[in-house]
Amino acid sequence: MTSAPCVIGLEIHVQLKTRTKLFCGDTVAFDDPPNTHVCPVCLGLPGALPVPNAHAVELALRAAHALRCSIHPVSCFTRKNYFYPDLPKGYQITQFEEPIATGGELRCADGSSIRIRRAHIEEDAGKLLHERFAGKTAIDMNRAGVPLLEIVTEPDLESPAQARAFLVQLKRTLQYLDVSDCEMEKGSLRVDANVSLAGGQPTELKNLNSFAAIERALTAELTRQKQLADAGTPVTRATISWNDVSGTLRVLRAKEAGGEYRYVAEPDLPRLVVDAAVIAEVAADQTMLPLERAAHLHAAYGLKPGDADVLSASRQLADFFEETVRLTGDAHAAAMWTMRDVLGTSNALQTKFAIAPAQLAEVIGLVKEDALSVAGAHVVLRRICETGRSARDIMRESDLSPMRDAAQADVWMRELAASHPAELERLRNGEEKLSEFFVGQLMRLSNGRLDPRVARAAVTRVLQDV
Ligand code: MN
Repeated sequence: MTSAPCVIGLEIHVQLKTRTKLFCGDTVAFDDPPNTHVCPVCLGLPGALPVPNAHAVELALRAAHALRCSIHPVSCFTRKNYFYPDLPKGYQITQFEEPIATGGELRCADGSSIRIRRAHIEEDAGKLLHERFAGKTAIDMNRAGVPLLEIVTEPDLESPAQARAFLVQLKRTLQYLDVSDCEMEKGSLRVDANVSLAGGQPTELKNLNSFAAIERALTAELTRQKQLADAGTPVTRATISWNDVSGTLRVLRAKEAGGEYRYVAEPDLPRLVVDAAVIAEVAADQTMLPLERAAHLHAAYGLKPGDADVLSASRQLADFFEETVRLTGDAHAAAMWTMRDVLGTSNALQTKFAIAPAQLAEVIGLVKEDALSVAGAHVVLRRICETGRSARDIMRESDLSPMRDAAQADVWMRELAASHPAELERLRNGEEKLSEFFVGQLMRLSNGRLDPRVARAAVTRVLQDV
């Protein structure tokens, strides 16, 4: 880890969550066969004319407002000219001199505030597929023309860890607003990072595939720059690729000044004029943002800040928790069961759940009225997730009611003592943790039904007898 002060700025591309592309009516869908969502507009055929997608503009406005940007009622589309096989038109339609939003900020969980330089709307390119045919590269244009919002920060980030924390906050914020899925592994959030030691030349890091990889890559690059500086070698501006598997950096090319794109105003599109009423509507939206929601969970239910943070990771998760509180009247139980038993069964984004709040509330109620042990409840919850059936149905089929049969517990414990002589001997010699081992085995034999107090008593009794 480098200790020298450093300067980090990020450029983030997020895919706006629209049904259709930015300038044509083709569906946005990545799992479909290649080149099935294409038309003359996104293929750049002669004579085809782009028509802006109003929903994409609205999503961009929502993000810009949450990032406290100045929103410009009039902005301008520009052609960014360059040649690459995934760019059928030979230029990308983007916003350059007059973006839709400038000058915002995002507050992070640690209280720091990172300034946003600008946010602009642009179209995505196609995708090169290197694995599809041996020795050849294929091109899938389904992604060409998909709407993106590019968000550029000021170089306010002072460490790799802070860059990561900012990205977590940005992702949560955009997901709360339903502006983007922000799934890095699916390419709907992509990050480039500019980094330099204080006073030095910046380099640009590419191929950053996860937030953890971003933190590792920045740390490695700062170490490299520090070593160069210590050796008296100046750092030169360059684009650098990070290989997260080997943990290595590769200098790709010296970075050019940026004048090579021959930006020209897009002649096929008028200036983008956003109605004052639309901006007012976006501003009037009262959706709580992640930090406000965490503060609300803390204040309204007395959750610990760490738990409030976990439960506000997505709007859907916070909604799930609050609905479970409403149904059970018990915030503590709702928080504990949601974090312990529901998070593990939800998707990585914590937006889709295999169980409904009403189902969890029913199980919590059954535990409270002692109709179900805690261990039995884990089993029931797992089966609800697998089958979608109700707790009572599952309990009727397989007896999961708490079991307090001491005689049966003794029988099992004697069998365990016989089959695990080494563990028994160690317990006898004072290794207390072996007691929990036997309790665990008893819980397993009872399918989670045995009352843990009965299990502990059986271990003690058999230990004295055998
Ligand atoms: Mn861009």
